[in-house]
Amino acid sequence: MIIHNTAILPGQQATIRIPVGQLPSGNKISIRAHVYRGPDPGPVMLALGGVHGDEINGVEILRRAIHLGYFEQIRRGAVIAIPLLNIYGFINYSRDVPDGKDVNRSFPGNAQGSLASRVARLLTRKILPNIDFGIDFHTGGRNHYNFPQIRFTKGDPKALELATQFGAPFSLSSKPISKSFRKAALDKGKTIIVFEGGENLRYDGVSISTALEGLNRVMAGQGLIDQDAPASRGRILPENEWIRAPKAGMFLWQKCSGQPIVKGEPLGLLNDPFGEEPSTRIYAPRDGFIIGHNNAPVVSPGDALYHIGYGDHDAPPATRRSRKK
Ligand SMILES: [Zn+2]
Repeated sequence: MIIHNTAILPGQQATIRIPVGQLPSGNKISIRAHVYRGPDPGPVMLALGGVHGDEINGVEILRRAIHLGYFEQIRRGAVIAIPLLNIYGFINYSRDVPDGKDVNRSFPGNAQGSLASRVARLLTRKILPNIDFGIDFHTGGRNHYNFPQIRFTKGDPKALELATQFGAPFSLSSKPISKSFRKAALDKGKTIIVFEGGENLRYDGVSISTALEGLNRVMAGQGLIDQDAPASRGRILPENEWIRAPKAGMFLWQKCSGQPIVKGEPLGLLNDPFGEEPSTRIYAPRDGFIIGHNNAPVVSPGDALYHIGYGDHDAPPATRRSRKK
């Protein structure tokens, strides 16, 4: 395996710095890829974090996995771990790069394009050709909490297999967004599943530990490590929708993410800030599960309040690759 002119032989590890530009102050910026290659042949997995610079849980999940030696147990294939792709957003506490462009809407990228497009190009050109599949670790948005969940591409059997092995509490099938990394990888025949957990600029312990367990299960399921990772049976939710604020006001939630809901059940209240008008109650439109919620107390009409997943069925039992000892 050769990445950015560095050869990594079976059984070797390397940290490769790939230049991606510089700050206005002149400081050079490079992306760090940690490569772990097992002694025997096998699939190559990408573990990616920080595509959005303020989505700290994704970065922390991979920092912890590297620090705790998760990838040093690899027997077959290899892992390329990039904990922080969007360094520009990270140092500015921002999802985007400084010109406001989203790296995850800039794939496959352009070497002569704007900054987001150049960062995307680096991943497309230097990393994507070397991998078989990957997990892209994200976090919720600003004021928006995501209960730990996997997003996988509808109609891609490999994506369903990876989502099932990961075993997050919830897995949602969806079409990949245009110009996202998941779509750019799919165009090259490579499957990326996306983890989402927590809220931007905040650590979320549940999301971090859930993701570390899922990462281990995928490595075991794909045969990279010899380990019996504890099984998990998450729920596959083929449909999801947002419940939005019917009017402006102060939003008080009464149910939180991860909980099942029953049609007609009260989920929260919208109050006027002066205490004069009666509260408006928000009800569950169908039976389902709360997979994300808004933490902002002040909302405008149409603001997303709850993300609800429907139509659950148990994930099929995760298959384990049989392997020679
Ligand atoms: Zn994100």
